[in-house]
Amino acid sequence: RKRDVDEHETLQKAVEGLDLKGEIKDFKDLPLSQPTSRGLEASHFKTLTDIQSKAVPLALKGRDILGAAKTGSGKTLSFLVPVLENLYRATWTELDGLGALIISPTRELAIQIFEVLRKIGRYHTFSAGLVIGGKSLQEERERLGRMNILVCTPGRMLQHMDQTAAFEVDNLQMLVLDEADRIMDMGFQTSVDAIVEHLPKQRQTMLFSATQTKKVSDLARLSLRDPEYVAVHEAA
Ligand code: ADP
Ligand code: MG
Repeated sequence: RKRDVDEHETLQKAVEGLDLKGEIKDFKDLPLSQPTSRGLEASHFKTLTDIQSKAVPLALKGRDILGAAKTGSGKTLSFLVPVLENLYRATWTELDGLGALIISPTRELAIQIFEVLRKIGRYHTFSAGLVIGGKSLQEERERLGRMNILVCTPGRMLQHMDQTAAFEVDNLQMLVLDEADRIMDMGFQTSVDAIVEHLPKQRQTMLFSATQTKKVSDLARLSLRDPEYVAVHEAA
């Protein structure tokens, strides 16, 4: 246990000392935990994409992120790596409850995120679950309380927040809004607002989107605090 704590402290110092000016090329150049490094390697991720090299160092340092990059640019790892790492450095355990909530517009996209999480997170001990409906509310409810990381769709998540009495979000460290443009286009603004209302104000929030629209900046204004804006533009 003592050795674990030392490892976490060493990692924490390395993250604090991380230079944000130098371009990070490979995942091995980032101060990442052994479980994440091994998970990335086993999943054959070696070089960071542009959005990842811009967003991950800032997110590791705990900054709020407003990220924009087109579909296929690698936004998923831009938030999943910081989610795993920031909980790991916080020595998060099953006893700490829900540490990170990832909101996705559709069930299919939520499942995709969950699968990437399972792949790169395979050497971590966190518990992770999907809250996307399809099973009975009761079945989902029983597993919810034991989860450290949840990937959800807005409507289903809100249903639990309203109806699952024992569902605790007081400890939450991180909120991710993925595909924020689609979340807004699909009419989930009210649900997302209501979810954010339930969450602790003191938290890290990352919002990713393929396009930058008025609706996305409205959502960003409501959910982010002094965000770092990271965007990857297509070459003209
Ligand atoms: P986006 O969410 O921006 O649409 P994804 O996160 O779904 O993009 O990634 C798109 C594809 O790129 C996926 O097949 C993913 O496995 C791959 N990918 C993501 N990051 C990397 C990386 N660093 N190295 C190699 N492939 C990557
Ligand atoms: Mg995506």
